[in-house]
Amino acid sequence: APHLLEVRELFIEFHTRDGVAKVINGVSYHLNPGETLAVLGESGSGKSVTAQAIMGILDIPPGRITGGQILFRGRDLLTMEESERRQVRGKEIAMIFQDALSALNPVFTVGFQITESLRRRAGMSKADANARAVELMDLVRIPAARSRLGDYPHQFSGGMRQRVMIAMALALNPTVLIADEPTTALDVTVQAQVMDLLGDLRRDLNMAMILITHDLGVVADVADRIAVMYAGRIVEHAEVHDLYARPAHPYTKGLLESIPRLDARGTELTTIKGLPPNLLRPPSGCTFHPRCPYCEEVCVVRVPPLMQLGNDRTSACHFAQEVLDGTIE
Ligand code: SF4
Ligand code: MG
Repeated sequence: APHLLEVRELFIEFHTRDGVAKVINGVSYHLNPGETLAVLGESGSGKSVTAQAIMGILDIPPGRITGGQILFRGRDLLTMEESERRQVRGKEIAMIFQDALSALNPVFTVGFQITESLRRRAGMSKADANARAVELMDLVRIPAARSRLGDYPHQFSGGMRQRVMIAMALALNPTVLIADEPTTALDVTVQAQVMDLLGDLRRDLNMAMILITHDLGVVADVADRIAVMYAGRIVEHAEVHDLYARPAHPYTKGLLESIPRLDARGTELTTIKGLPPNLLRPPSGCTFHPRCPYCEEVCVVRVPPLMQLGNDRTSACHFAQEVLDGTIE
């Protein structure tokens, strides 16, 4: 059977004044019902862009898909009829963003915004939609939901606004929820609450989830698998437990070593020396080579292929097996 969602060999370019940036270079990942895949990477690694391509919201800045497929239940979103695509995007697949304030419209009440898709896309009456909105607000644990339907976004705290956005995303019972840095803008305590909520919702509603994050600290508790992105490629993919126990790519190894405790939240992935590459002029060979402590001659001249390491594990490193075995120096 096809996967619920599969990104297959995706390529995306951004055309800028300074040239063409190849921001996604052959990304593949998949998601099965009820699973959570964490997509981990620094800003600019392409983790959000891939999700935007899935949702069809790639227009700003001008991104262009130059290759690949995005399959939902085996059918390619990129080539299907517009009417069918609209049924998938926003209904079967919903997305929440880092910044709830800009995702919500300041001039409409949250009740109006949560009920909009129910009225417009599910054809519910106003009364039914309002009742469902209260249910949804209860579900995301907004206290005194009924009395808050008429409030505007600015009357909610940051964490509560995030819950409103989650309620909107859940309105049409999606099978896949894409959460793009859902807690990054929140303070640490609220972050934990929102992550807990997402974990519970995922389980209770049996949704699949793509959790996009730069924060290794939030991943371990909620994700089943992790795809680590670097410079528009997936450099490592593994089950969470396997990846934490034994990373198979020097970048992942660096990320794990750069946090003192695995449960330390809020750790930025900026502690590896050097900067992410400029995708207008990417480094030759392995794009991680200028920052890699294990770089050899071959790394500078040859792009490492994605190596299969068994148990649904892959790593794009010429020395993947040695890194996995801990024998690399
Ligand atoms: Fe480092 Fe070479 Fe592996 Fe790239 S291919 S991650 S430079 S060892
Ligand atoms: Mg992003």
